[in-house]
Amino acid sequence: MSNNNFQQPVKIAFLICAIAWLLILSAADGALARIRVVTTTEDLAAIAREVGGGLIQVESITRGVQDTHFIEAKPSFMLKVNRADLLIHQGLGLEIGWLPLLVTGGRNPQVLEGQPGNLDLSRAIVPIEVPTGEVGRHMGDVHPEGNPHYPLDPENGPLMAGAIAQRLAELDPKHQSAYQENQRRFANRIAAKLPEWKKRLAAVGPRVVVTYHPTWNYFLKRFGIENAGTLEPLPGVPPSPAHLGRLAETMKQRNVKVILQANYFETRNAELLAKKTGARVLSMPVSVGGAPGVENYFSLFDMLVERLAEALRQP
Ligand SMILES: [Zn+2]
Repeated sequence: MSNNNFQQPVKIAFLICAIAWLLILSAADGALARIRVVTTTEDLAAIAREVGGGLIQVESITRGVQDTHFIEAKPSFMLKVNRADLLIHQGLGLEIGWLPLLVTGGRNPQVLEGQPGNLDLSRAIVPIEVPTGEVGRHMGDVHPEGNPHYPLDPENGPLMAGAIAQRLAELDPKHQSAYQENQRRFANRIAAKLPEWKKRLAAVGPRVVVTYHPTWNYFLKRFGIENAGTLEPLPGVPPSPAHLGRLAETMKQRNVKVILQANYFETRNAELLAKKTGARVLSMPVSVGGAPGVENYFSLFDMLVERLAEALRQP
């Protein structure tokens, strides 16, 4: 018997032991396993954390400083999708340019559309700006199903949390009451903050702004502030000199003093417009994680309300 042959049974025994040990480890891990939630945006991750607490583990694919309409479908994101028990997305076409690629590349049957592991949160809210009649490229690049920026209405927060609580309870029925209780607590905190935010924005001057993109329309609608126009001629189409010229006229006629834009857009065009009209540019985060100190859904609105109120109060 050669030396090699003698070692073979030892190797096999060792392998069997190693496999058994791995199985024991993975069973122990299973007992402690938390539901793996992957969200497309940091807003959704923040709300999922409010609902799931320590029972889930949450990761967002994008960062709050990114323009979520346009994200590169990286292999590392596919890996996140591959390992997810629940994929939560914003829907209404926001992630259309990249999420289908991640779902295909992720090869995880649990999170395919229509499966319990796939949650489109736009079904939980009432969308605004849903086009009527024929939809086509003439309407712009990015919003053919209505405005997808609904997390910026704080009253949508509890609706989103409700849909997450319900889905988590389906996936993990033994913790149903914990998810429901967390959702109720979150909704109560929003209900307590909302009058404070409304009061802060009610005590300002002209209640009209222009914005770069329709990102802000849910927020503005909730607080009774008008959007007199966008720097983009159509959603997703960059500003043109002719369009900006017309917008400057509108701003002068309407006495618009604030140009509101997400902090991931270039500010050159807004600055030009500000110079022409005497307005000021307010470049702000539009998501949890979009700026230092904006670490949850509440601090996002605290910052937006405070800074917009201050800008609108300026003479
Ligand atoms: Zn958009």
